[in-house]
Amino acid sequence: MDRSANMRAIRSKGTHPELVVRSLVHKLGYRFRLHGKALPGKPDLVFPSRNKVIFVHGCFWHQHLNCKRAHKPKSNVAYWGSKLKRNRERDKRHLRALGRMKFGSLVIWECQTQNIAVLRKQVQKFLGRAVT
Ligand SMILES: [Zn+2]
Repeated sequence: MDRSANMRAIRSKGTHPELVVRSLVHKLGYRFRLHGKALPGKPDLVFPSRNKVIFVHGCFWHQHLNCKRAHKPKSNVAYWGSKLKRNRERDKRHLRALGRMKFGSLVIWECQTQNIAVLRKQVQKFLGRAVT
C-alpha cells in the first residue's frame, strides 16, 4: 500500500468511533441531529434544544495530545507536520466560534470510545438528564 492509500484506510476506519458514540447517545435517550452543516466545524452530533454539540475526533487526523495513535508519519515529515498542525488549528477555531455562539462542545477522541462505561459518564455529564 502506498502512503496515501494507507492514510485513506486510516481515515475511513475513523468513522467507526462516530458510530459507537451515536449508538450510545441514542440508547441513553438523547435526541440529536447529525452533522450540523450550518455550524462551525460541522459537529458530528448536534443537540439543538440544549445548544450543545459533540465532535468525534480521530486521534491521528486531529492530533490527540499525548496519544500514541497520534504519532506522525516518519516520511514526508514537513508535509504531515504542517497538515496536521492546520487540522488542530482549524479545530480550535471551530470550538472558539461555537463558544461565541453559546454552544457547549464536547470532543470525544477515538481512543476514548474503547471504554463505554467511561464514555457514558462523560456524555451524561456533558448533556445532563435525557428527557424521556
Ligand atoms: Zn487518542
